[in-house]
Amino acid sequence: MKINRFFQNPALDAEQERRFMDMMEKRCWKYFLPVGSSIIVFQIYNIFYALQYTGFQLNTRASRVYMTLYLILLTVVAAAFLLRKTVLSRSKEKSRLCLLLYQWFGLILLLWAACVTVYDQRVSDNLNVYTVAALGIAVLVYMKPAFSIPCFLAAELVVLAGMPRFQPGGMLEHYGVYINSVVLAATAVAVSIYRYGTVREEFRKQELIERQNREILRKSQELNELASRDALTGLWNRRFLEIFLDDLFQKEESVSMAVIMIDVDEFKQYNDTYGHQQGDDCLRRVANAMKLVVSRGRLFRYGGEEFVCVVPGYGGKEAAALGEEIRKNVERLGIPAADGKKSTTVSVGVTAGIAGQRSDFDRLLGAADSALYQAKTSGRNRVGKV
Ligand code: GH3
Ligand code: MG
Ligand code: MG
Repeated sequence: MKINRFFQNPALDAEQERRFMDMMEKRCWKYFLPVGSSIIVFQIYNIFYALQYTGFQLNTRASRVYMTLYLILLTVVAAAFLLRKTVLSRSKEKSRLCLLLYQWFGLILLLWAACVTVYDQRVSDNLNVYTVAALGIAVLVYMKPAFSIPCFLAAELVVLAGMPRFQPGGMLEHYGVYINSVVLAATAVAVSIYRYGTVREEFRKQELIERQNREILRKSQELNELASRDALTGLWNRRFLEIFLDDLFQKEESVSMAVIMIDVDEFKQYNDTYGHQQGDDCLRRVANAMKLVVSRGRLFRYGGEEFVCVVPGYGGKEAAALGEEIRKNVERLGIPAADGKKSTTVSVGVTAGIAGQRSDFDRLLGAADSALYQAKTSGRNRVGKV
C-alpha cells in the first residue's frame, strides 16, 4: 500500500523484512503475554465486583452493559491467546500472521475502550480508559501506518459520535472532553507512526553493523590465513608454526608427535646451475609433492629449502614411514639435479616423542635435525632416524 511505502522508511529487502517480522513478533509477544494476562485478571475481578455490587442480580442496565463489555474483552483476549498458541504458532508464516493478530487485537481493544469511555460519560467527563488504551497500543503494538491511522480514526469516531448520546446536558457543556479526545487520538497516531519508523531504522542499523562485523571477521580471517602461509610454496610458514604449537600445548597437556625435518639436497648447486627462478620453481614442486603425502599433521616451510612436518598422534614407526614416503615422492618428480643425476632429492630426519610444552618440541626438533644431519652425511636422499 502506498501509505505503508511512504512510512516504510527505510525500505528492507525481502529477507530483511522476514527477519524484521520475526524480531517484531518476538517483541510484541513479550508485551502481549503480560498485558493480555493482566487484562484477563482485571476483567475477572471486574465481573466479580459487578456481580457482588448488585447482589448477584445484575438488576441495573449499567451493570448489564458493563458485564457484557467485560465478557467481550475477556473472550477476545482468551481467543487471541489461544490462536497465537495453537494455529498461528504452527503456521509457516507465523511471524506475519501473529503480527496481523496483534494489530487486530489492538484495534478491538481500542474500540472496546472507546465504548467503555462513551458509556462512562453518563457519570463523568473522563477519558481514562480510552487514554490508557490508545497510548498503550500506540507504544506496545507494532502497527503499520496504513493500519494504525484508520484504527485510531475509527476509535475516535466512535468516541465523538457516541459521547453526545450519553452525556447529560448539551455538547457545549463538555467541549473540553471532545478537544481532549481529538488531541489524544492525534498523539496516539503520531506515537504509533514514530515508533514504527524508529524500530525499523534501529533494525536496519543493527543489520548494517552485523554485516560490517561479518565482513571485518571474514577479512581478518583472510589476512590471518595470508600471514600464516609461505608466499612461494603455499605451505604454512614459521610464524604459524609458533601459533600452531601454542594452540596445541594449550589444548593438550602432553601429546605424542612425530617431527620430521626435510632439506633439499645440493640446492645451492641447483641454483647455481639453473638460476634462482628455476630454483624457486623446484621448491614449489617439491612442496607440492610433499603436500600430497602429508594428510595428517602440518607441513611448514621452516627456512630457505628446509621444511618441518609435525604430526600429532604419530609414533616412531609411522614417522619413519611418512619420512620415506616424502623422500620417494620428491624423487619421483624427476626434476633433473645439478650434478647430472636424474632427480633432485631430499634428505629427511625423523623423530617421535611426547611433548607437553615448547621446550619439549624444541628437543624433538633438535633430534630431527641430528637425524637429518645423519642422512646428509651418509650420502643424502635418505631418511635418518633418532
Ligand atoms: P645440502 O645438501 O647439504 O643441504 O646442500 P645445499 O646446497 O642444499 O645447502 P646450503 O645450505 O649450502 O644451500 C641452500 C641453498 O638454498 C642456498 C640458497 O641460495 C638456496 N635457497 C634458499 N632459499 C631459497 C629460495 O627461496 N629460492 C631459491 N631459488 N633458492 C633458495
Ligand atoms: Mg639443502
Ligand atoms: Mg639447508
